Amino acid sequence: ASDKEKANSVAKIKVVVRKRPLNKKELAKNEEDIIETLSNSLVVHETKLKVDLTEYMEKHEFVFDAVLNEEVSNDEVYRETVEPIVPIIFQRTKATCFAYGQTGSGKTYTMKPLPLKASRDILRLMHHTYRNQGFQLFVSFFEIYGGKLFDLLSDRKKLCMREDGKQQVCIVGLQEYRVSDVETIKELIEKGNATRSTGTTGANEESSRSHAILQLAIKRSVDGNESKPPRVVGKLSFIDLAGSERGADTTDNDKQTRMEGAEINKSLLALKECIRALDNDQGHIPFRGSKLTEVLRDSFMGNSRTVMISCISPSSGSCEHTLNTLRYADRVK
Ligand code: ADP
Ligand code: MG
Repeated sequence: ASDKEKANSVAKIKVVVRKRPLNKKELAKNEEDIIETLSNSLVVHETKLKVDLTEYMEKHEFVFDAVLNEEVSNDEVYRETVEPIVPIIFQRTKATCFAYGQTGSGKTYTMKPLPLKASRDILRLMHHTYRNQGFQLFVSFFEIYGGKLFDLLSDRKKLCMREDGKQQVCIVGLQEYRVSDVETIKELIEKGNATRSTGTTGANEESSRSHAILQLAIKRSVDGNESKPPRVVGKLSFIDLAGSERGADTTDNDKQTRMEGAEINKSLLALKECIRALDNDQGHIPFRGSKLTEVLRDSFMGNSRTVMISCISPSSGSCEHTLNTLRYADRVK
């Protein structure tokens, strides 16, 4: 098949669910695994109480492009989600991979290895298939916290966004590193993740309130002219979203928490609307709904691909959050 045919065979939107194993805390509380999985569907077994307080079970069934159970490795997650997209980044495609779910559901665990595996494959293509064709790989890593942008590769320097009128998003001052080996990329990813999780207060709590965005951009110098700045050919973005339950912090007593909750809620709703608009091939994409979707604006336009990885806990104690996550994913697919 030609490159173009191959590109067309990659689904525009793919929604997968990843279930993690029960953890020690959940086991200690005698919580049970309530998620039954099949290859592309799952059933949530919810325990409910009747008015006389006797228990009964309610089943909720969902179908997705793929359901990855607790035995699936990070390697297999990569193969199922990002690997098929990598070659088409060289064909003027912008692709985005999201991890969605409540705090503790496995978003960071799932997301962290993906950019490294993808850049390994990108570099392999650059060094073999596209040898001497002037392609270059760039890495940037930033976060959106309370509607503001911070550079994770530059000591959380505050950034701002500019629209250049040509449908390209420009984040002023964002550090972009040109990379040509996997080791350097690994160091940058680790640096960014460390900057993220320590945040301002050092509490892990902080990272659940921010969206972390790692971008791999493939650029090429125009007509092989190295003296001109290279142009973006394709882009692959990895987004570790804020904990989905944080969007509900809108009635908290703390004003700061309330504001952050409202911002997260707004961005997750806007994201859902943008992906749905993409799917329907609507001309109008409502990306102005939030900072997150504005930043991703150029990734929603033109030739784009979206992968949503919805992360869920298997535990009975998380039933309500899990159902919320699955309903969100269901709306996107
Ligand atoms: P989140 O980023 O959604 O808050 P994390 O990725 O930090 O959640 O995961 C919470 C904990 O569960 C971590 O200790 C992580 O190592 C563990 N974990 C998550 N997913 C898996 C998995 N599929 N297999 C084993 N451990 C996992
Ligand atoms: Mg996390």
